[in-house]
Amino acid sequence: MNMAFDFPEPSVAVSEAFAASDPTAEQYDTILYLVRQTTGARHVAIQFDGAPLPPAPANMASIQAPIVHQGRRIGLLRAYAREFESGAGHLLAGVAVLVAEHHALWSVSQCDMLTKALTRRAFMADLGRAMSTWQRSGIPCSLVMFDLDHFKKINDTHGHAAGDAVLRAVAHVVQSELRPCDRLGRLGGEEFGVLLLADSEAAVEIAERLRRVIEGTIVRDFPQVDFTASLGVATASGVIDTRDAVIAAADAYLYEAKTSGRNCVKALVGVPLLDAWD
Ligand code: GH3
Ligand code: MG
Ligand code: MG
Repeated sequence: MNMAFDFPEPSVAVSEAFAASDPTAEQYDTILYLVRQTTGARHVAIQFDGAPLPPAPANMASIQAPIVHQGRRIGLLRAYAREFESGAGHLLAGVAVLVAEHHALWSVSQCDMLTKALTRRAFMADLGRAMSTWQRSGIPCSLVMFDLDHFKKINDTHGHAAGDAVLRAVAHVVQSELRPCDRLGRLGGEEFGVLLLADSEAAVEIAERLRRVIEGTIVRDFPQVDFTASLGVATASGVIDTRDAVIAAADAYLYEAKTSGRNCVKALVGVPLLDAWD
């Protein structure tokens, strides 16, 4: 049978479909290749969480299998062909199980379970991409690193559950202050990173806003717990021009904030060096 139809290569179509929500769509290329090889499909598409499916190729039959995780449908795997080999539907259903397992593992690697912030790994990948974009096209890139003050004492005084609730609340309030293009990551323990597509002046202002918001947060189940954070800010520049350099600089300013009495923002001298403003 002549299979020379006029539509994009599957891997390209899938990458495009995922581009906005899942930059690592290439991770499914091997699975999709196997589907094509084993079912005779000419085109295979994956769709997650309500994202639109790529348009169906004309004059093709299709089969589909739901992608289910913990009893909930999270997406759809669909294959197109003029004609399918026998058993293709069963094969596709089996592959959909594999995709669900793969997606679950991928989610764990991206999202911190406690706080729903990005994991360190995912955050570092985004920071690396933002620094590359800054180098290529000059879109500003700043990193705010913050660490909760005397957090050990919160655990010791109010218990580990209170500490966990504080971490969740801090991530929630910080996330709600950010724009969709900004990123919050949990770098470890009670230390977080905020990636801002903003210049140094804006980043320092945002960091100061975050400091105030954190200081003013009341945790519903533990309203008696007070807490603050210390923040360090660094921005990509001719001197700070790699991911490691921006991390080292933000970390150094965070250290300075700790040694200057905590509950303050420190950034490069030249942009205003801020202490708590009130
Ligand atoms: P500093 O102001 O210098 O940052 O002091 P600190 O007490 O915040 O810092 P330290 O590194 O001494 O203690 C951090 C504490 O954070 C110790 C650790 O048990 C706690 N911690 C780390 N991860 C978690 C977590 O997931 N949940 C809870 N409840 N505590 C955590
Ligand atoms: Mg701390
Ligand atoms: Mg710490």
